[in-house]
Amino acid sequence: MTIVSPKHSSNGQFRFQAAAATGPETAGSGRWQQALKTAVRDPRELCRLLELPEAWQTQAIEAARQFPLFAPRGFIARMRPRDPHDPLLRQVLPMAEETAVVAGFDRDPVADQAATLSPGLLQKYAGRVLMVATGRCAVHCRYCFRRHFPYSAGPHSVDGWLPALDQIAADPTVHEVILSGGDPLTLVDSLLAELAERLAEIPHLRRLRVHTRLPIMIPERVTDRLLSWLTGTRLAPIMIVHANHPAEIDGDVSEALGRLVDAGIPTLNQAVLLRGVNDDVDVLAALCERLVDLRVMPYYLHQLDRVAGAAHFEVPEDVGLQIVEQLRARLPGYAVPQYVREVAGEPFKVPIWK
Ligand code: SF4
Repeated sequence: MTIVSPKHSSNGQFRFQAAAATGPETAGSGRWQQALKTAVRDPRELCRLLELPEAWQTQAIEAARQFPLFAPRGFIARMRPRDPHDPLLRQVLPMAEETAVVAGFDRDPVADQAATLSPGLLQKYAGRVLMVATGRCAVHCRYCFRRHFPYSAGPHSVDGWLPALDQIAADPTVHEVILSGGDPLTLVDSLLAELAERLAEIPHLRRLRVHTRLPIMIPERVTDRLLSWLTGTRLAPIMIVHANHPAEIDGDVSEALGRLVDAGIPTLNQAVLLRGVNDDVDVLAALCERLVDLRVMPYYLHQLDRVAGAAHFEVPEDVGLQIVEQLRARLPGYAVPQYVREVAGEPFKVPIWK
């Protein structure tokens, strides 16, 4: 089975084609693939579904030319109608501010290109490498730090990964592989299982980490087949999901997260601090408590990566610090995520402290 050819946005830099053209692998996989296929791509449709005023449509159409809209219907159903400031909508609705050129915000804010070892393979930190497994996602987050990433340069099949696998095999200091993207869980399980198998053949690898928004966006993605290959590999699996606001976690998402945890997969959450979405202690406290109640550990709260098109989401660090301090005063220590920013060239995510 091969990964389907990439499909590009008008600027040629982002793939958003629904995952597998190869048909469902199981009844469960059919549901999540269908959710990808039927995701809303037209700003007019999104605005109509949510009964938004005409002006929002016009700016969304313009901004989507640079970075297309892509939002699954199940996620849209969690938004409040007639509220252009809904925190979930804000994460996906193209806005006029995205077209502004702002000093200090660029196309490669965390120096992914400088960290590239071979097409699709990045290394920033000791002992870990990151595979950009695909450019596809279940949602286009307007603040995405990889919204300009040249995904088309990466491998498009398991065989295309052979040079990267050889490179990992040649470096005994690498103990962990991170499957990232895009979102690796937009790929079908048969392909992911094959990739995991090939990675497991590398004796010095010990862990396989998956960075994904799928369990939040399309909870049907947590299928038996997914759990089976994740727990079937000799590599220790770790799942890092991405929710920014408690309203993202409805009953189906809770159940999906529970299935991951029940399968024995350590599951953590990373969030991005976003103006107008979660720059509020009540919101973040509710998110962290909800996660902990579901046995998902709040891991990181990221300061926004300064990517071109996302300046309007930035929260000043001193404001972020105040919010995190208030979180510490309210929650047990294990429920407070580490507030960090990524600085190109630094050997770890830099903690933000007073
Ligand atoms: S933040 Fe993650 S899920 Fe969102 S668009 Fe970027 S890579 Fe995709």
